[in-house]
Amino acid sequence: MQFIDLKAQYARLKEEIDTGISNVLCHGKFISGPEVAQLEKELADYAGVKHCVSCANGTDALELLLMAAGIGAGDAVFVPSFTFMSTAEVVSVVGATPVFVDINEDTFNMDAEKLAQAVAQTKAEGVLSPRAIIAVDLFGQCADHDKIAGVAADNGLLLFEDGAQGFGGTIGDKRACSFGDAATTSFFPAKPLGCYGDGGAIFTNDDELCEILSSLRIHGKGREKYDNVRVGRNSRLDTMQAAILVPKLHAFAEYELEARHKWADRYTELLSGVVKTPVLPEGFTSSWAQYTIILESEEQRDGLKNYLSEKGIPSMVYYPRPLHRQTAYLHLGYEEGSLPVSEKLSKFVLSLPMHPYL
Ligand SMILES: *Cc1c(COP(=O)(O)O)cnc(C)c1O
Repeated sequence: MQFIDLKAQYARLKEEIDTGISNVLCHGKFISGPEVAQLEKELADYAGVKHCVSCANGTDALELLLMAAGIGAGDAVFVPSFTFMSTAEVVSVVGATPVFVDINEDTFNMDAEKLAQAVAQTKAEGVLSPRAIIAVDLFGQCADHDKIAGVAADNGLLLFEDGAQGFGGTIGDKRACSFGDAATTSFFPAKPLGCYGDGGAIFTNDDELCEILSSLRIHGKGREKYDNVRVGRNSRLDTMQAAILVPKLHAFAEYELEARHKWADRYTELLSGVVKTPVLPEGFTSSWAQYTIILESEEQRDGLKNYLSEKGIPSMVYYPRPLHRQTAYLHLGYEEGSLPVSEKLSKFVLSLPMHPYL
C-alpha cells in the first residue's frame, strides 16, 4: 500500500495527461506556453481570486511575495514553528528574521493569541520591525485566517497565506489561497494538487502586486523582453507541468477532493475514541493533505509506526522537529520548552496514508 498513490491517479488520468504532454511536445512552447495561462486562469477561478501567478515551486512563491513586499534586513516575519522548512527559510533568504509562534493543539495551526503576544514582544524589544505574518494551512486545514487577519490589521502587518498543503480547504464559502493580502501554493507531487516535478503559484486580488510578481519571476522584466526594471529571479512553471496540472485540477474539483473527504470521514469514524483524531472547527473543511492522529507519548507513536510498518502500512511523522529547534535556527536562541505545543506534537503525531484512491 502506498502513502500517497500517484500511480493509481495516473492510471485514471493517463489519456488526458499523455495528450497534454504530447501537445506541448508538438507546439514546442516549453516556457510560458499557452497551458500556463490557461492553468493560471482556472486556478484563480477555483480559489476565487482575481490573479494567479505561477512559478517554479512553493518555496519560490513565498520568497517572491516577500521580495515584492520589500521585506529584508531588520524586518520580523511571524511564522508558525510547526511547519515545513520553507515557511521560515524564505524569510531568512531575503535577509529578514523569522519569529516563531506556537500552534493550537487541535488544529495544528498558528495560535492567534500567541501571535499577538509575539508581535507585542517584538515591538517591545525594539530590535526588529514587525512587517508580515505567514499563516500556514497545515495538513490541508485552513489557518484561523479571520482571527489572524485581526492581529495583522491591529498591528499594520501584511498577511500571507502559505497554502502549500491547504489547496481545496475552505472556511465558510471562501476557499484556501484566497485569504490574506496574497496566498501561495505548491504543486510538489505529494501535495493535494501536485504535478510531476516542482511547481508553485501565488494568488492575489491586488493588480499592482500581480504585475510586480509577474516581473520578478522573469528577472525583473519590464514591458520589453530585454528591459529589466528590477532585480528578480528565474522562477517559472514549465509548460509541461501546466499541461499535467490542467486535467489534475479538473479531477481534483470533480471527484478527488470529495474522495479525500470520504476517506477522512471513514478514518474518523473508525478511530475516534481509540486515538485523538483531527478536529475541524465549525465552518472549516480540509483538503486532507495529511490525515494526522495524535498519540499519548513518543513511545506509543513510534510503537504504532513500527507496528503499521510490519503490516505493510506506511505512515509518516510530520514534523519530527519544530523549526525553532532546527540546527539552522539554534542561533536565534529559542530554548527547549519555549514553544511547548509544537514541541509536544512533534513527538506525538503520526500521519496515515491519505489520497483519493485509498
Ligand atoms: C511543501 C511546502 C512548501 C514548499 O513547497 P515546494 O514546492 O516544495 O517548494 C511550503 N510550505 C509548506 C507548508 C509546504 O508543505
